[in-house]
Amino acid sequence: MRIIFLGPPGGGKGTQADFIAERYEIPKLSTGDLLREGVAKETSLGKEAKGYMEKGQLVPDSVVIGLVEAKLVSPDCQKGFILDGFPRTVTQADQLDNFMRSTGKKVDIVVFFSIPKDEIVKRISGRRSCQECKAVYHLDYVPPKQHGICDLCGHSLVQRNDDEPKTIESRLFVYQEQTAPLIEYYKSQNILGELDGSGSVSAVQDRLLDLLTHQKSE
Ligand code: ADP
Ligand code: AMP
Repeated sequence: MRIIFLGPPGGGKGTQADFIAERYEIPKLSTGDLLREGVAKETSLGKEAKGYMEKGQLVPDSVVIGLVEAKLVSPDCQKGFILDGFPRTVTQADQLDNFMRSTGKKVDIVVFFSIPKDEIVKRISGRRSCQECKAVYHLDYVPPKQHGICDLCGHSLVQRNDDEPKTIESRLFVYQEQTAPLIEYYKSQNILGELDGSGSVSAVQDRLLDLLTHQKSE
């Protein structure tokens, strides 16, 4: 299956993408993770992206589109993929459409995570991530077994720079202005599936599996 996860920052996309990637045995492509990796390794891409990310702004379309297309042509994406955090602008979505057309394949479903703003802020504020394996936790909702330590690889958990309160508001503003228009964009293509992203991780998982199973059988 070829799946796009669309929704606000902190909406739970990455958490559910990990689950679906394992369940469907398809790779998760998170542009946020790829960009953060570039920043950490101080690659030229990372150096270009860093300033935008720290301010909670979007990295320029040309940078992100190149990054995604390079991944999508790789052999492990041929049986399907989950795009987490891409596209985030109409230009990115148009480019992805052109790219998919050139491969003769299509995106099966765009899952839109719908979630109230106060819940988003609580989720982002408590998010902690493993610098090593990228696993994501939450101080209250998804705590690790041992405080500050990743269950999966034992490395320490950190708060992302852009999860600090002063950046959260600008990311939510950018989401409304630049990414939310994609809801109508994909609705008009008849591939939008709305997911109630509130409630526990397992409640959202169940709803998501229902949505994807329904989509598959159509
Ligand atoms: P996104 O990828 O959309 O930015 P994440 O998957 O990183 O969102 O989730 C944001 C934060 O909320 C993380 O700390 C994660 O552990 C937590 N989280 C994800 N889904 C849920 C949920 N259904 N209920 C409570 N907390 C959640
Ligand atoms: P995320 O991990 O998805 O919350 O993304 C973190 C940050 O990476 C965003 O605030 C942007 O600065 C940048 N980013 C991630 N994906 C994209 C994208 N598709 N387009 C532009 N910038 C992106």
